[in-house]
Amino acid sequence: MFDNLSEKLDKALHVLKGHGQITEINVAETTKEVRRALLDADVNFKIAKEFTNRVKEKALGQNVLSSLQPGQLMVKIVKDELTQLMGGDSEGINLSGNPSVILMSGLQGSGKTTFSGKLANFLKKKKSKNPLLVACDVYRPAAIDQLHVVGEQIGVPVYSDRDNNDPVAIAKAGIAKAKAEGHNVVIIDTAGRLAVDEKMMNEISDIHKAINPQETLFVVDSMTGQDAVNTAKAFNDVLNFDGVILTKLDGDTRGGAAISIKSVVNKPIKFIGTGEKMEAIDIFYPSRMADRILGMGDVVSLVERAQEQFDEEEARKIQKKIAKNKFGFDDFLGQIQQIKKMGNMKDLMGMIPGAGKALKGLDIDDDAFKHIEAIIYSMTPDERSNPSKLDASRKKRIAKGSGREVQEVNQLLKQFDQMSKMMKMMQGGGGKKMMQMMSG
Ligand code: GDP
Repeated sequence: MFDNLSEKLDKALHVLKGHGQITEINVAETTKEVRRALLDADVNFKIAKEFTNRVKEKALGQNVLSSLQPGQLMVKIVKDELTQLMGGDSEGINLSGNPSVILMSGLQGSGKTTFSGKLANFLKKKKSKNPLLVACDVYRPAAIDQLHVVGEQIGVPVYSDRDNNDPVAIAKAGIAKAKAEGHNVVIIDTAGRLAVDEKMMNEISDIHKAINPQETLFVVDSMTGQDAVNTAKAFNDVLNFDGVILTKLDGDTRGGAAISIKSVVNKPIKFIGTGEKMEAIDIFYPSRMADRILGMGDVVSLVERAQEQFDEEEARKIQKKIAKNKFGFDDFLGQIQQIKKMGNMKDLMGMIPGAGKALKGLDIDDDAFKHIEAIIYSMTPDERSNPSKLDASRKKRIAKGSGREVQEVNQLLKQFDQMSKMMKMMQGGGGKKMMQMMSG
């Protein structure tokens, strides 16, 4: 996420490193580089200019008072300004109605349907809501199918009416159904076009007026940069929406939309999409995002994600197995599945402070566990439970079955062995001993 921007800002802020004090000259040089980094990230020219002017003013004004090194001071100022620019505090969504009606708007392909599913899943799991999804795209039958597939995946019902070509009527019927069946949230997915056009705007505006939703969200593909900002403006003029959803941040190396959209439409970014899976949704926190952009990682989000995936019952089961020396490859697979649910590897690595820079250029597979899984899947159930049975001929067979080298199978077995030993040690009161050992 935002790799290019992070790298350029890092270079820009480097200018001041090693300088004993802030001067007009080195501040001018730094802010010029910062501005260039923002423009390269596809941030609107005016916004970039105002941004760097504020940074410059603050840097020159604060110098005397600050005990920070100039480099650190500049990073702090840029971080604070980025946070402000992206909205300051995080904003939730309004769930006050019964049902609360949430209307999705945006261009075709922006990720509306996917996000409708993600949001339903999020509200169901995190807020114990009972959502209903409503398919209002009357032009593309495939879009209705897609929402049904998503609904099935997350266990949320979907209302659609393929014989009706009036989206307003469908939306109303969906809300009526939600009321009748006790759904406290209704998420309405609407039709998008490839570009802003009058017919689409009229249609979404009609739906909006007819149902008067608690929350109108505008979904936009982060990778489209300035276009995203312009589209947001067009939709906001018609809908006066409540918040922005930025999707596909996982593929956005520049970050221009994330940085400029708030100050152009004066509406907060509420959620971000970071992948195609239903779990790839995050609340947008401007300050955490600023940290990530500046390569400081985002440990808070990382821990939150780990907590979300943590399954207490599963953990207890695993503990028992370890104690009885019964931890096998099936359990190992289960652990991998949990980590995978936290997000793709590259994204997770980016949340570790400093890791982004260290890992730059490394080609981290989206599915870093693919090979390990292939090897484990090539074992028989008996072998998975009893890894000690794996002799040379079995290893050879597994390597062949998984299309990997025997060497990799050996490596995995060794890692598995070490991990099992370590887990046993951690459990048997050895945790304390090990901590002592590590802290030297
Ligand atoms: P809609 O036309 O606005 O309903 O868009 P869709 O929900 O059909 O999404 C268009 C494409 O973008 C699909 O292939 C989605 O899987 C993909 N997509 C949606 N959100 C994300 C995201 O956050 N990250 C990535 N990488 N892909 C996404």
